[in-house]
Amino acid sequence: MKIVKAEFLTGAVSPKQYPKQPLPEVAFIGRSNVGKSSLINSLVNRKKLVKTSATPGKTQMINFFNINDAWMLADLPGYGFARVPDSVKKHWQTLIENYLQERDTLESVVLIVDIRRKPTELDLHMKDWLQQVGLEYVVVATKADKLSQTERQQQMKKIKQAFSDDGQRTVLMYSSKNNNGRKELWSYFQNLQKK
Ligand code: GDP
Repeated sequence: MKIVKAEFLTGAVSPKQYPKQPLPEVAFIGRSNVGKSSLINSLVNRKKLVKTSATPGKTQMINFFNINDAWMLADLPGYGFARVPDSVKKHWQTLIENYLQERDTLESVVLIVDIRRKPTELDLHMKDWLQQVGLEYVVVATKADKLSQTERQQQMKKIKQAFSDDGQRTVLMYSSKNNNGRKELWSYFQNLQKK
């Protein structure tokens, strides 16, 4: 995918602030520090389109990016910060639930996990929730460059087992360091439209 335009549009804290362009949208979500910003930057070939994650306590927003006037990317705030007040968790939950339930242009959610780790309870909870709402999603295991070839295969097997109770789930491998997996993830997005 050749990226000719990658533009930050807006940060939203409520549905009325979502951009109105009727472009197909994909949303990115994962535990904080999982490598979400790096993954988006790698996908769109920009070093600093998405700035590294906000620390807890900062305003939680959904950031929207226009890619090639063809796609909208939504960067959802990460979950799983240790020691955040319940009010922050509640705000996160409302923000995410509103978005996932109400965003009509949303085609798929990219659920990002660290290839080196066993998916956390929060990751699996997010998966269950996406299934319940009936949203299309893809699991992306990032930081693949941190493992050897053999370790990668072992971890991918475990991650697939954890996520695909229906045996159908797409699980892709990614490295934002060397862009491995980029082609496959773009193909997945492009195929969504053929469905
Ligand atoms: P976020 O909090 O989920 O947005 O995570 P970041 O994208 O800021 O990444 C967290 C840390 O992991 C940073 O130090 C990144 O440089 C590193 N990182 C992210 N993706 C990769 C990757 O694919 N390979 C390697 N080696 N490091 C990565």
